[in-house]
Amino acid sequence: MAKLKLCYGAMNAGKTMEAIRVIFNYEQLGHRVLLVKPKIDTKGGEKVVSRTGFSKNVDVLLDEEQDIYKEFIKLNVTGKNIKCVIVDEAQFLTKKQVIQLTNICDEKDVAVIAYALKNNFKGELFEGVKALIEYSDEMEEIPTLCFNCLEEPKKARFNIRVVNGKPIKEGKEVAIDGDEVEYIPVCRGCFKEIYKN
Ligand SMILES: [Zn+2]
Repeated sequence: MAKLKLCYGAMNAGKTMEAIRVIFNYEQLGHRVLLVKPKIDTKGGEKVVSRTGFSKNVDVLLDEEQDIYKEFIKLNVTGKNIKCVIVDEAQFLTKKQVIQLTNICDEKDVAVIAYALKNNFKGELFEGVKALIEYSDEMEEIPTLCFNCLEEPKKARFNIRVVNGKPIKEGKEVAIDGDEVEYIPVCRGCFKEIYKN
């Protein structure tokens, strides 16, 4: 039976790069991959863009209310069988959509890999990640190092929201990084120290 796999990490861990690499591998073997991204992530528009510069066109820009299983059925036409569904920025999925992804695995026997940021800037799980942890068959961490303790860097598992150069602890969960807002991957110690938790 096909599996739902969650690949998670902090900011800058190379999740999108890894997604593009996996798609490339499938395509080299002549397989078709469906690339999905939640619409709420406005960065890159209809593309997923890795910080290393690689990008890939998205097949489905997913609305919060959209049924990903139905989209899959619509696009999985005969002769163009989809071998794998890849979701980038999967932290923005709803729980309902995560369950729809399991239906793609269980009813259509097609593998799904979801790449997600694990913790929001308050150190809590995103709704999509929580559901993915509950429903996935496999989980894999994509590691990255803390950007703050440079001499002896530890694994980064948290993200600090920085607005105009200042760490900000308050605010709504979603603020896509761009000119004013950025996210810095940090270890737990630095997360507590910077936010003074
Ligand atoms: Zn640190």
